[in-house]
Parts: sequence; C-alpha cells; structure tokens
Amino acid sequence: MAKIQMTTPLVEMDGDEMTRILWKMIKDELLLPFVDLKTEYYDLGLEHRNETDDQVTIDSAEATKKYGVAVKCATITPNAARMTEYNLKEMWKSPNGTIRAALDGTVFRAPIQVKGIEPCVKNWEKPITLARHAYGDVYKNTEIKVPGAGKAELVFTAEDGTEVRKTIQEFDGPGIIQGIHNTDKSIASFARACFGYALDTKQDLWFATKDTISKIYDHNFKDIFQDIYDKEYKEKFEAAGIEYFYTLIDDAVARVMKAKGGFIWACKNYDGDVMSDMVSSACGSLAMMTSVLVSPSGVYEYEAAHGTVQRHYYKHLKGEETSTNSVATIFAWSGALRKRGEMDQIPALCDFADKLEKATLGTIESGKMTKDLALITSMENVTVLNSENFIKAIRESLEKMM
Ligand code: NAD
Repeated sequence: MAKIQMTTPLVEMDGDEMTRILWKMIKDELLLPFVDLKTEYYDLGLEHRNETDDQVTIDSAEATKKYGVAVKCATITPNAARMTEYNLKEMWKSPNGTIRAALDGTVFRAPIQVKGIEPCVKNWEKPITLARHAYGDVYKNTEIKVPGAGKAELVFTAEDGTEVRKTIQEFDGPGIIQGIHNTDKSIASFARACFGYALDTKQDLWFATKDTISKIYDHNFKDIFQDIYDKEYKEKFEAAGIEYFYTLIDDAVARVMKAKGGFIWACKNYDGDVMSDMVSSACGSLAMMTSVLVSPSGVYEYEAAHGTVQRHYYKHLKGEETSTNSVATIFAWSGALRKRGEMDQIPALCDFADKLEKATLGTIESGKMTKDLALITSMENVTVLNSENFIKAIRESLEKMM
C-alpha cells in the first residue's frame, strides 16, 4: 500500500513524561506505516526548553504562524519541585501560555463521545464544545483588603491627564475591593476566533454574560460580539445554516443542561474555567477531551486536554506496566492531519484522519480499553489493555480499514 503523501509539514511539538512515550508509540504504530509524515520537529520537552532558555517554545509558535497547523504533546509547566527534579536555570513559563499569547488564540475543548461511556447528562447526544476567553477579568485582578472605614474609588487617568472617578463604596468597617479589566482588542480576537471556529465546524455558537447586572463591563462583551457578528459573519452564518445566539449566563446554564449538544459555548474567562470542568467531568475523563487553540487569523494548534500523566511515567520508569489512555493525543494528531488535508486539498489525508478516529472509537466500543475507561464504562466484559497494546489494537483495526 502506498503511503499518503503530504505537501506542507505539520509543526510537531514533542513534550514530556508519559505523553512523550505515547507520542512515539502513536507515530510508530498509527502514523508512519500509513502516512509519509512531514513534520517540522520542535522538542518542547522540559530538558530541551531549559537548554534553549525556552527559545524552542517561541520558535515553535513562530513556525505555527508560518505553516498554519501544529500538533502538541502535553508538557510540564515547571513549579518548585520541577526546578530541583530537572535542575532548571529558571522556572520557565507554561508553554501553552507562551504559544497562546504568540498566536492570540482561543482554546476550544470538546469531549470525545463513544458508546459505552455516556455523559451523565443523558440528553447530551453530541459534544458541547467549550470556548474560554483566556485573558483578563479576575485572572488579572488587583485586590485590596480594606482594613477599616474609608472610601474606595475607581479612577482612570487618560494619557492627556483627564480623569474619570467613581465611588465604589463608602466603607464603615473592614471589607474587600477588587479591580479587574479587559481590552476591546482581546474581546474582539476572542469573538472572531469563536465565529470562525463555528463556521469551520458548522456548529451554532452560544455566548452569554451577566450584562443585566454588569451594564458596562459585561455589556461591552455583548456589544463587541454583536457588532462583529453583524458586520463580518452574519451572512456567512446564514449561508452555512448556523446560528449565533446570545443569552444571559444563568439562562445559558439552564439551557445547556436540557440541550442535545452539538454547539459551541463561548464563555468569559471565569465562566469558561468553571464550565469546562463541568462539561469534562460529566463526560467521564480528561483523557477523552480534544483541545485546539485557534487564532483569529485561522492558525490551529491541536493537543490533548490533559497533562503529562506524571504518576504513570514514574511507574513506567520503574519498569512497571501502565495503562495510559492515548485517545486525546491520537485525536490531536487526527485533528491536525485533517486540517492539513483541508488546507492543502489532500482528501486522502482527511480520510485517513477520519479512519484513525473511527478505529480508535471502534476499539473502545469493541470492549478493548485502558484502565481509566474500564472504571467508568457501562459495558460488561471489557478487556483492559496496557498503553502499548491499546495502541496496537487500534492499529489492527486501522489496517483493516485501509
Ligand atoms: P494530568 O492531566 O497529567 O493528570 C491528572 C489526573 O488525570 C491524574 O490522576 C492522571 O492519572 C489522570 N489522567 C490524565 N490523563 C490521563 C490519561 N491520558 N490516561 C489515564 N489517566 C490520565 O495532570 P497533573 O497530574 O495535574 O499534571 C502533570 C503534569 O502535566 C504537570 O507537570 C503539569 O504542569 C502538566 N500539565 C500539562 C498540560 C498541557 O501541556 N496541556 C495540561 C495540564 C497539566
């Protein structure tokens, strides 16, 4: 069988620990036998980030801008323990944060639904994709613990010296104050990434804030979304037969619980933080979530939603068997290959991505799965496979399809 040819390389960002082990197995068993894989390789493993003073992360983000599609393995975000473990020169920043900032991107996460592992919300027939605005609000706040009576004011001083001043509260005793902000530029990028991704995936887009209470702050989000929609996306949405729907956050939450799924839910930073955990835990496992970073200019970086599965890696180092779920990492590859196929008009590559996903889900549906899924499945008589044998089982089924 001739291998599927690629024209443009994918930006390949390797990572750390157990996911780095899975990365190689996936390439060897599921990709290289079938695809003449072209990648531009960046090693974002912590050791190499440290050797390059984290330049490799910046370079990989620049390459992503150049080529348009990247696939990323989970990486360690260093903390104090990692400083010692890896003898680091510095506590390097989160690679995901660096890449997101460079691409000005929005992260879209969706559960991978499979028969036998149904979400606890029974009416969610299709995945709900969550888009979280990843800038500002309470994540970039300034807070004061008010010691006692006094006046709190909100002051803005323009470059020309003019002032806007409002009283927040006349305190008669101790309390607390918080200052938060966002920028029109960031909100607009978020809106464009959401509208673009909705068109790309042909799904409705929901957006919600608390604009009835926050008449300036949240209202600004609503207005920017509406304005960009009307000017740039309304006609395209109508042509694609999809809808943009704005409502209050409490109404959105109530509707989501009763909905069938199959739409994108755009959330402000805090709402997205909370709601993405709700959606993912209702759907079973972090290892069954896809995650893609999309820039407003249409650049894509695919990854798994989970971390490096450190505990399994230490077992692996001791020579013990692991049963680590590779589904989200496989879907990162299939997502990236499909997007590359779409951009370069290589239908065989898109078809391969579909088959890879089908083979993966089919393997689980036939009762062969990793331990994390065996613990939550409604299926009886399942076979628990180790990390390697699960990937080999997928290969068997993929070979039959090819
Ligand atoms: P983790 O996602 O690796 O693990 C969290 C829990 O979920 C663990 O109990 C783990 O066993 C389980 N789990 C996660 N993925 C699994 C899989 N594929 N198969 C089976 N079980 C799985 O998160 P953590 O333990 O908090 O972090 C470990 C490292 O990962 C940290 O160094 C952190 O910085 C990094 N991290 C990276 C990313 C990323 O690159 N996107 C995201 C989160 C955490």
